[in-house]
Amino acid sequence: MQQIRVGIVGYGNLGRGVECALRRAPDLKLTGVFTRRPPDRVHIRTPGVPVRSADALEAEADTVDVLILCTGSAEDLPVQSPACALRRPIVDSFDTHARIPEHFAAVDAAARSGGTLALLSAGWDPGLFSLARVWAGAVLPGSRCETFWGPGVSQGHSDAVRRLPGVADARAYTIPVPAALEALEGEDAPPLSPREKHTRVCYVAAEEGADREAIRAAITGMPHYFRDYDTQVHFLSRQDLEREHPGLPHGGRVLCRGRTGWEAEHTARMEVRLALDSNPEFTGCVLVACARAAWRLYTAGERGARTLLDVPPALLSPLPPEELRRTLL
Ligand code: NDP
Repeated sequence: MQQIRVGIVGYGNLGRGVECALRRAPDLKLTGVFTRRPPDRVHIRTPGVPVRSADALEAEADTVDVLILCTGSAEDLPVQSPACALRRPIVDSFDTHARIPEHFAAVDAAARSGGTLALLSAGWDPGLFSLARVWAGAVLPGSRCETFWGPGVSQGHSDAVRRLPGVADARAYTIPVPAALEALEGEDAPPLSPREKHTRVCYVAAEEGADREAIRAAITGMPHYFRDYDTQVHFLSRQDLEREHPGLPHGGRVLCRGRTGWEAEHTARMEVRLALDSNPEFTGCVLVACARAAWRLYTAGERGARTLLDVPPALLSPLPPEELRRTLL
């Protein structure tokens, strides 16, 4: 079997998660890690695979089929995804929901002009949860879906906080509001605002001498990330942050409710739930399945940007279609 050669761009939590997932994917192999830091300071786990400078990406065209971009949504992917998509197929996990249309348009233009394919905003939300919402809307017209995240660490939000001036490290937790979860059990729960559904709690290790009130204001006022939520900001030392918040658990649920029957007299509920010990490791698994699909779409002649909503499920699976029909349909 000819393995699909994968390069990881950006080696943080998600990059490490993708590396773990590649180890378990028989049809893909890691052939390079690309970093903006000095490569000799980045130590990966897969033996024999080179760590290269992100500046060397162009010269590495012969060693990589698909790039999985594992850098931050806030500032990195809007620049890196179009630049990389000009040259070869990519997968990214851009997760700033409100900005997905503009990101899609920019990468679509780059991928079309470069004759490549980009599978964007892959992961679990956006990603698998998006599929659940689309399925419900398709089979239960007029249904309503509510999505809850957490309790858990949001990597995109943590990354956005870490990029603020004066922040040494940070964890941003997303916590569902218990009253909102209870309200959903009722027959006709009213729609809830973002603030009514989730609370955000940030633990921040500030750099020495940093203006903590300025950091607090920058976090609570940050559009798309924190401004629409009740957001708490707690400061602690770097050592305490590492000791008290070591893991990256996350999860959530999409609950969709609709009606069936001649008079819409019956209720129908669809639910998808995730409980993850490690968000980056699970998201890495999704991105690896997406790299397989991206390569298959590309080699079938498709060009431009796609999201998981556009990908036939069988293309994500390592199993052949006939086996999927026999065992999973
Ligand atoms: P990290 O902060 O761990 O890593 C982001 C980038 O920062 C890395 O790619 C790396 O780039 C650089 N970096 C990592 N460690 C260091 C370090 N010690 N010093 C300096 N630079 C470092 O972020 P995450 O991996 O946790 O998250 C990345 C993105 O993943 C998030 O922004 C989010 O958008 C996305 N995500 C999406 C999900 C979804 O469901 N769609 C779920 C989870 C995450 P480099 O190697 O080039 O220096």
